[in-house]
Amino acid sequence: MTSTPTIDVFGPYLNVINNELRGTASFRNGINPATEENNPNVPLSGTEDVDAAVLAGKNAFQHWCQTSQHERKQRLMGFCAALEALSEDFAKLLTKEQGKPVMSQVPYNPVIPFSKIEITSAVSWMRGLAEIEMKDTILEEDDEKLVIVRYVPLGVVAGIVPWNFPIHLACGKIALSVLSGNVIILKPSPFTPYCGIKLVELAGKIFPPGVVQVLSGDDNLGPLLTTHPGIAKISFTGSTETGKKVMASASGSLKRLTLELGGMDPAVVCPSADIEVIVPKIATVAFLNSGQLCLAIKRIYVHESIYAEFKNAFVQFVQTLKVGSGADEAAFIGPVQNKMQFEKVKEFLTESKSKGFQTFSKDEVEEREKGYFINPTVVDRPPEGAKIGTEEPFGPIVPLFSWETEEEVVTRANDSPYGLGASVWGRDLVQANRIARQLQAGSVWVNAHFEPNPLAALGGHKESGMGSEAGLSGLQALSYPQTLYLRKPKVHKL
Ligand code: NAD
Repeated sequence: MTSTPTIDVFGPYLNVINNELRGTASFRNGINPATEENNPNVPLSGTEDVDAAVLAGKNAFQHWCQTSQHERKQRLMGFCAALEALSEDFAKLLTKEQGKPVMSQVPYNPVIPFSKIEITSAVSWMRGLAEIEMKDTILEEDDEKLVIVRYVPLGVVAGIVPWNFPIHLACGKIALSVLSGNVIILKPSPFTPYCGIKLVELAGKIFPPGVVQVLSGDDNLGPLLTTHPGIAKISFTGSTETGKKVMASASGSLKRLTLELGGMDPAVVCPSADIEVIVPKIATVAFLNSGQLCLAIKRIYVHESIYAEFKNAFVQFVQTLKVGSGADEAAFIGPVQNKMQFEKVKEFLTESKSKGFQTFSKDEVEEREKGYFINPTVVDRPPEGAKIGTEEPFGPIVPLFSWETEEEVVTRANDSPYGLGASVWGRDLVQANRIARQLQAGSVWVNAHFEPNPLAALGGHKESGMGSEAGLSGLQALSYPQTLYLRKPKVHKL
């Protein structure tokens, strides 16, 4: 048996093209959001690097697309084991680049992807995806003909990743691409390039050259990939605004496209809800990763009859969430990941305060000279149409609203251009399920939120996305459907 391959997670950070580590003429760097210090240099890729990776990818595809699902799965399992073995190092690197606390304490106990757990959850996500089989379907068969629908891989995929879950989201894209017989060029966010680069360096020890590659760069790199004629598919996760640009630029060569975009997930709290039980759960999903989660709860609608009680318990719970740097093991809320996002979240706070909305913030935050820290904040019943209830803050601030009738709350929850996730909370499961079935979102939970299953479709409705990045539909989105109308050779009877 061969031993599990390993790498030095702490540097140097180079592109991986055709399984070779390659630098670029000039470099750039990310910033540690807790200290505002520079992280190490990373490549600044341009057209030549993209051309080289696409060429290597196309060559690799010739062979990789012919491999069996069994072989692809075996290689992916090897990658999972190697990543698992390095989870401590990856967790440290993740905290240094993304800011999320290593976090030993969580307010309640579902799968919470803080830095260490982001790695274990990525591994279990990939193992889950590997269980899905893409089978041919026989539509018609007789003595003469055989009609089969099968799914064939596309070619070179560009996997474009945001900065909020740099490991989990990259791993999802790598897994779906290789399992479906495609090859992938990963492009991490310029804010968080380090873990993505090292994931692919590790993958290079397991997959043949050109099957999994990575290019790091600045804001100019994404468009070089989305317009490149040698790329067959863009698997994009990021904001709705950028998703629209990606879609426009991919149209030039009709590239296949999956868009996983922003969200404004509503949580509807019914009169029958057990406040003590649900407050920690709802607050955790609202403030998880400092609110920088596509599927975070971003609007909370509480039935009028229990509004005051819920609000008090919620605000009290928020007081228990410790704000701190990644090194602080008791911290739940780390810094916002980058300065641009920090300024954006502050605009939501400023609007709420300047318009006189009642807000509740955590009392304490020790004075910090450095770092993009924001206190978790609850906004009490802002008017309909306020920025905080309509635009994605992607930070630790959440509004509470009250509702009276089911029809009204369903209308208000659905009155958004977004439709990523939603949830309904209550002990009256007949009512909760009834409301859940009326919500317009890609994933709807009852008495839970953000508990995705790799075997299920995962994607957004409306402007939250297009296509799916999990389940059978995720694999099919990386394939061309092909119908084969075959003729059976004549068997001559003696
Ligand atoms: P972003 O759209 O700014 O950037 C995402 C990625 O796109 C980055 O790698 C960036 O470099 C790249 N990019 C930027 N401009 C590009 C262009 N013109 N062409 C091609 N690529 C380009 O998003 P972000 O700020 O990094 O991430 C936060 C957003 O991502 C939030 O809106 C969040 O809801 C969303 N998100 C969605 C999901 C999901 O599964 N639906 C998951 C995580 C994050």
